[in-house]
Amino acid sequence: MKIICVGRNYKDHVKELNNAIPDEPVIFMKPKSALLQSHTPFYYPEFTNELHYECELVLRVCKNGKYIQEKHASNYYDAVTVGIDFTARDLQDDLKAKGLPWEKAKAFDNSAVVGKFIPLAPGFNKKNIQFHLLKNNEKVQEANSADMIFSIDKVIENISKYFSLNIGDLIFTGTPAGVGECVVGDVMEGFIDKQSLFTVEVK
Ligand code: ZN
Repeated sequence: MKIICVGRNYKDHVKELNNAIPDEPVIFMKPKSALLQSHTPFYYPEFTNELHYECELVLRVCKNGKYIQEKHASNYYDAVTVGIDFTARDLQDDLKAKGLPWEKAKAFDNSAVVGKFIPLAPGFNKKNIQFHLLKNNEKVQEANSADMIFSIDKVIENISKYFSLNIGDLIFTGTPAGVGECVVGDVMEGFIDKQSLFTVEVK
């Protein structure tokens, strides 16, 4: 199983980090060891002083595929949730400045929090998924899948040109604006509509 992530997929987030609007999806990956197992605490990593949360819609892949066309993409995922792409922002800025890969800042152990999946019923409107993140009970991020620069199905088409999708893979679809720091003791809770799908405390 692998975790494929999209970067810079919401305009307001691209702007808050002073990046350019991409003309093709920005893709990176996290290994299986990045997945925070449920009931495992998340510990603040020792190699960063600027840990950021990024709340994102996450899809679960249900069918193997390669070179998937956008019009067929919805056959390849069967459930959605929210998650956190934990990012060591200071380290990422440093790596970006040097033109180096991001993995140390983005793919470290337990950096992928994934909520409880909601199975997608036939006819589910994937262009109107509303989600938000609470930090210590205060709303810090909120967006709708309609705001994505590259839609879910376009992202799948693009990813599958380069990487085979396999059953059980997870796709993080990018974060909206409002990313920010978290510190030890912060409690993050992710929602789709009013449904709470994960709670994680930084230890
Ligand atoms: Zn992200």
